[in-house]
Amino acid sequence: MKLLKELVTTAGTSGREHRMRKLLRAKAKGLFDSIEEDALGSLLCVRKPTKKAKGKSKGKTKADGKSARPTRIMLAAHMDQIGFMIRYIDEKGFARINPVGGFDTRNLFARHVLVCPDVNDPKKDLPGVLNPGGKPIHIATDADRNKVPTIDEFVIDFGLSCDEVKKRVKIGDMVVLRAEPIEVGETIVSQCLDNRVACWIALRAVEQLAKTGHDCEIHCVFTVQEEVGLRGAMTSAFAIQPDIGIAIDTTLCVDTPGVTGDAAVTKQGDGAALTVMDSASIADIDVLEDFERVAVKHKIKHQRSILPRGGTDAGALQRAGVGCRSFTLSCPTRYIHTVTEMVHRGDLNACRDVLAAYLAQV
Ligand SMILES: [Zn+2]
Repeated sequence: MKLLKELVTTAGTSGREHRMRKLLRAKAKGLFDSIEEDALGSLLCVRKPTKKAKGKSKGKTKADGKSARPTRIMLAAHMDQIGFMIRYIDEKGFARINPVGGFDTRNLFARHVLVCPDVNDPKKDLPGVLNPGGKPIHIATDADRNKVPTIDEFVIDFGLSCDEVKKRVKIGDMVVLRAEPIEVGETIVSQCLDNRVACWIALRAVEQLAKTGHDCEIHCVFTVQEEVGLRGAMTSAFAIQPDIGIAIDTTLCVDTPGVTGDAAVTKQGDGAALTVMDSASIADIDVLEDFERVAVKHKIKHQRSILPRGGTDAGALQRAGVGCRSFTLSCPTRYIHTVTEMVHRGDLNACRDVLAAYLAQV
């Protein structure tokens, strides 16, 4: 779990993915034939086919039918995490924040945060604490206590004078929550498992492929700005024009108390989630069934899932340029978008294995 721990402790909110990009570039080295960065900052890693196509290529065919190019597959694992930007610093040195991605403010009370004034240099990071403004419980009225504050009411306290804060922090600085990853039972608990697990799955699956070889041309893209609207995936898919686009992401796993079974979306420990549809795209039925066939053949635990609200990079892949057949491979994640996101080791490994097995045969 060393790689996953490194991935979840590297700060990188949407539009501020610099540290993640550097880390992923280092981890991808040796696994790919080329690694490039596009204008928005997505990292495009290409792995050429290692086996001779055995006439089963589904890539575009020239008029003579003889020179089919290998099937071009784009994997999209978004590398950004949800977080905040500094929006305003008041005369006492307290900072207000603007959300980057979707937070439930009920999960933001009494949090440690890290403000990152330099996107490239973690040494300049500054710790702070995040709380909603207002009175502590001892002196709060009933009405105060029952109210859920909005994001505008939260402030960061740096424990420094206003002058010192203004010297070190500016509007637009990235802010992330602070929480160390831990192993809990058979699971891993951390913030931003959405979507660092996908970066892990993509890297580890490609690593496994080195043993089996593959006919397809793999464009593994660590996309930017997914959490604010699938932005990086859209431009990289436009450039790559894949035949098949596979988003890798976390999905809801609400098999927990207080939620009825029909609303669980996935079950923890039941394996890789093959997403049939979400609110951004409907999976290509052939790709979905291929994944299912491969999972059955290799005895990899898997489950179908439908996410009624929310989407993944697949929505952008599907519609970029002339479009492509798209699909989302999802890792069931409890308590999503909190600092206690929880993923089962078995599900994580199942996602890696089914992706590697699919890519080896496509
Ligand atoms: Zn995600």
